[in-house]
Amino acid sequence: ITSTEQEVLDEIEEKDVDFLRLQFTDILGTVKNVSVPARQAEKAFTDGIYFDGSSIEGFVRIQESDMRLVPDPDTFAVLPWRNSEESASARMICDVYNTSTGEPFEGDPRYVLKQALERASDLGYTVNAAPEPEFFLFEEDEEGRATTDTNDAGGYFDLAPKDLASDVRRDIIYGLEDMGFEIEASHHEVAEGQHEINFEYEDALSTADNVATFRTVVRAIAAEHDLHATFMPKPIPKINGSGMHTHLSLFTEDGENAFHDGDDEFDLSEEAHAFTAGILEHAPAITAISNPTVNSYKRLVPGYEAPVYIAWSDRNRSALIRKPAARIPAASRIEARFPDPSCNPYLALAALIHAGLEGIEKGLECPDPVRENIYDFDEDKREEYGIETLPTNLGEAVDALEEDEIIYNALGDHIAQKFVEAKSQEFQEYLVDVSQWELDRYLETF
Ligand code: GLN
Ligand code: MG
Ligand code: MG
Ligand code: MG
Repeated sequence: ITSTEQEVLDEIEEKDVDFLRLQFTDILGTVKNVSVPARQAEKAFTDGIYFDGSSIEGFVRIQESDMRLVPDPDTFAVLPWRNSEESASARMICDVYNTSTGEPFEGDPRYVLKQALERASDLGYTVNAAPEPEFFLFEEDEEGRATTDTNDAGGYFDLAPKDLASDVRRDIIYGLEDMGFEIEASHHEVAEGQHEINFEYEDALSTADNVATFRTVVRAIAAEHDLHATFMPKPIPKINGSGMHTHLSLFTEDGENAFHDGDDEFDLSEEAHAFTAGILEHAPAITAISNPTVNSYKRLVPGYEAPVYIAWSDRNRSALIRKPAARIPAASRIEARFPDPSCNPYLALAALIHAGLEGIEKGLECPDPVRENIYDFDEDKREEYGIETLPTNLGEAVDALEEDEIIYNALGDHIAQKFVEAKSQEFQEYLVDVSQWELDRYLETF
């Protein structure tokens, strides 16, 4: 038992934790729990906890279904909404192992991200990431089911009294802080009922863990206020959807920001430019992972501050990648603006990191930034600038993923296959469905 593990055992004792939720995510990014009595914590650290993986999305085939969960003691947190004087529940995020081989399970998204970080580390880098998840808060109906009625009519940075949801957001932030989050900022977003909470940057693995946790916490605390929090990318047509801008930078082993170069026009180093070039080059395939639902592509349309075209910029927000202004060298970074909060954060970060590192390894040339509003460009102008378009639907994105060896391999065979299978099926189901829009448009016309 390590000293961090011992600290967790002490804390379990001290805080009267009865139950431990051992968490991991499936391929689609849904958080799964195995709940064990807290007295099993020591055994969980030393031997792991066995579970049947056959019922988990995309995990294993039935005949090889025994999996082992090994909790990461760094992720121990008492659940704020299950905490009272007498008892408490806590969670830890786990790595998944294959019981027959004893090796890390290649179907574990956290393992896929760890491998991306290992590639970075082989090149001498650590990866920092900070997400900006956006979400909507909706009213529930009498039966407690989610509606798309917003509970406020606020707009960007509006304050009370219009921002009635600020109470909820405050409770969410307290809950997150109780769980060890460093919240940098939170505000009402552009659309009514839409919110954003920004976390302080951390190493990419902690950030992915944080996003997974974040979605659970936000939903749980919103529910206490009889509201439904949704991370669906575009719940309401014709207003902004929800993105999850993702800030990325590489640091050297001695803690210097490898993305900073004060002599560059954009304060970005050669590595940062090459990393950007790698993401631009692999963007269509990454999209399948960072924007993995049919609905994701209803957000990626012109006019709603979401990217559509494959370009970068130091100013405008219609670009796929933006270079935000940095006040200090440590803050030089790039902002990928295409991911949305329905993605599996482990896989999305892994894909972005592999693409960026590929750019560095190959010394890819970064195109010039585009400073005009790309939404206004017509096809000729895009052609002149050499600007390609993101996939326009999930089907195209999955095709791009299958054609892009780098990104496909980044997922590992197991996850790549299951992911493509699941997403192709999802897209097919969507294609044969008849939507309300079609009924409204055609039922009485023809
Ligand atoms: N909601 C926008 C998106 O879909 C972003 C708006 C913003 O943060 N300025 O990405
Ligand atoms: Mg923001
Ligand atoms: Mg925002
Ligand atoms: Mg942003």
